[in-house]
Amino acid sequence: MGMPGTVLVVSAHAGDFVWRAGGAIAAATARGDRAVVICLSYGERGESASQWLAGKSLEEIKELRRSEAEAAAAALGAEIEFLDAGDYPLQPSRELLDTLVRIYRRIQPTVVLTHPLLDPYNGDHPAAARLAIEARILAQAIGYDAPGEVLGAPPVFFFEPHQPEQCDFKPDVLLDITAAFPAKERAMKCLPAQQHMWEYYSSLAVRRGVQVKRNAGPNLGLPVDTRGEAYMRYYPQVTDVLA
Ligand SMILES: [Zn+2]
Repeated sequence: MGMPGTVLVVSAHAGDFVWRAGGAIAAATARGDRAVVICLSYGERGESASQWLAGKSLEEIKELRRSEAEAAAAALGAEIEFLDAGDYPLQPSRELLDTLVRIYRRIQPTVVLTHPLLDPYNGDHPAAARLAIEARILAQAIGYDAPGEVLGAPPVFFFEPHQPEQCDFKPDVLLDITAAFPAKERAMKCLPAQQHMWEYYSSLAVRRGVQVKRNAGPNLGLPVDTRGEAYMRYYPQVTDVLA
């Protein structure tokens, strides 16, 4: 066993990290790694329709989404921080980028998870991905003025968007989340404002689980109830053995 890793998840909105990467996060914390979720916004305008329909105010919605996301992160064993940068639109700024660079330098992630760079349905998701990648690059530069150690080269994985084909999302990593799935289910149920997503992401985990089994081959003896999450790598894998 090596040193414990640290997973940094850059999430545009308060729910995204749960639906798309909850299994990876729960699996990481279960094996003793640290997981830190950065929510750039609460998803207060773009992903809280049921609360607007219920007549809640903006501040009430932000507070609700914050407490839901905190509960979901706790269910996954993750820490969570909110940058309250606003959504619909999530707009990049020099300050927001600098805040993220400082987070990279402070947390020293060994793995980064974020949205894919294309999403014709939701501009906030690619905006979050661009910020996550740009901040990673800046945090690697010794000349960038921010406290903490210069960042190494943590791999970046894009998690699965809601409409994968339209986002040019073609998985090249299938993660077995079977053991972590009960924690992901508990986390999803912390988000009643998006209750319509529970069934969708439960059945997606079944379908990705079938693909985990198919690609792993029969010799691993994976169980019939295998659950999976799909990812794309942004940078090449580095290895001295092809395996
Ligand atoms: Zn979102």
